[in-house]
Amino acid sequence: MKRVYIDYNATTPVRQEVVKIMQPYYSEIYGNPSSIHIFGQESRAAIEEARWKVARALNVENSEICFNSCATEGNNYALKGLAFSNYESKGHIITSLVEHNSVLQPCRYLQRFGFDVTYLEVDQYGAIDPEALRKAIRRETFLIALMYANNEVGTIQPVEKIAQIAREHNITFFTDGVQAIGKIKLDLEKLPVDIFTLSGHKIYGPKGVGAMFIRKGSKLASLLHGGGHERAHRAGTENVQGIVGLGEAVTLSLNELDSESQRINELTQHFIHRLLGEIPRTKLNGHPLNRLPGTVNISFEGISKEDLFIQLDLHGIAASSGSACSSGSIKPSHVLKAMRVKDSDNIAHVRFSLGHYSTETEVNYVVDTIQHILENNKQSVNL
Ligand code: PLP
Repeated sequence: MKRVYIDYNATTPVRQEVVKIMQPYYSEIYGNPSSIHIFGQESRAAIEEARWKVARALNVENSEICFNSCATEGNNYALKGLAFSNYESKGHIITSLVEHNSVLQPCRYLQRFGFDVTYLEVDQYGAIDPEALRKAIRRETFLIALMYANNEVGTIQPVEKIAQIAREHNITFFTDGVQAIGKIKLDLEKLPVDIFTLSGHKIYGPKGVGAMFIRKGSKLASLLHGGGHERAHRAGTENVQGIVGLGEAVTLSLNELDSESQRINELTQHFIHRLLGEIPRTKLNGHPLNRLPGTVNISFEGISKEDLFIQLDLHGIAASSGSACSSGSIKPSHVLKAMRVKDSDNIAHVRFSLGHYSTETEVNYVVDTIQHILENNKQSVNL
C-alpha cells in the first residue's frame, strides 16, 4: 500500500546528515562531559559546538542556550521555574487558550499553588489581540506565555507586538517556538523575547533532546537539582549525541530556510488550492496570511471524524486528528474550539503538515483519495 506521511508538525524523520554526525558519540566519543580528562573534554567540546550552532540560528549568545530533553520540559521549566522564583509573592501569568498542552497543563498546575492565570481568547483565526493582552496586564503580572506559531492551525502570533508590550511593562515574555524554528526567520536579538523553547524531533533531529534560550538575567528556579549542569538550569549528564544531532539539525534548517520555506509554501498553496477548489464544503482553518508554511488545517463537512480518519489510515495517509481519547473516538481540539470553528458529528477537521520530503505527487494523492473517500461516503449514506 502507498504510504504518505503528512504529519511533520507531530514529528520528523532524522536527516541522514544528522544521523551521521551523531554516530561517533555513541561508542567512540563517550566521555562524560563533566570529566576533566581528554575523554570528557571531547564530549564537552561537542556540546559547546552544538550550543554555538543553536545560538547562531537564534542570533543570541552561547551562554543563553540551555539543553534539555524536549520542549515539554522546556515549557514546564519556563513556567514553573519562573513561578517558583516568584513563589512568595505568587502573582499573575497571562497565556492563551490555544497554547500546547505542555503550557496549559503547567499553568493549571500552578493555579493549585495560588498563582493566578488569565487564558486569553483568540479570534476566528486563532490570533491573539495585543490590545486584549494589554488590558489583561495587572500590577502583579510577572509572565506572558504566548506561543510563536500554532501547531494545529499554523497561525503566527503577533510576537513583535507582544514582546513590545511585555517590555513596556517589564514583564518576562516566554514563547514556545517549537513550530516556528526551521520554518520562519528568527532573530531573538531583535525580538525582545526572554525565553524561547524548541525541540529536536520537530526539525529533523533526534527525539529526546531540546533547547531553550534564556535571556541573560532571567531568574528561574531549577526543577532538577544535582550536579549543576547547564549553568545550574538542569542537572543531569548531558545527552551528548542528542545535543550534537540537534546542533546539526538546527544548522541544516538555518542553511536551507529560504529555499525550503519557499518550496514548502508553494506546495502548500497548491495543496490548499486543490482541496478548497475541488472538494465541496471545505474550509481552511487558521490565519489566511500570517501562517506557517506547511500547516494546513481543513474542515470537511459531510463525514464524521472517525469515518474520515479510518479511511485515511486505510489509504496509508498519516495526518493528524487532534488527540484520540481513551474511548477511541476523536476529541475535539481545544484550539479549534477556542477559534469557534463550526463542529458537529458530521464535520471532520484534519491537520496536514508538509515537510522536507513532501512532494507534489504525495499531496495530489491525498486530495484524490479524500475525494474518493467523500464520494463513497455520500453513496453509502444515500443507500
Ligand atoms: N509545543 C508545541 C507547539 C508543539 O507542537 C509540541 C509538540 O507537539 C510541543 C510543545 C512539545 O514538544 P516535545 O514533543 O518536544 O515535548
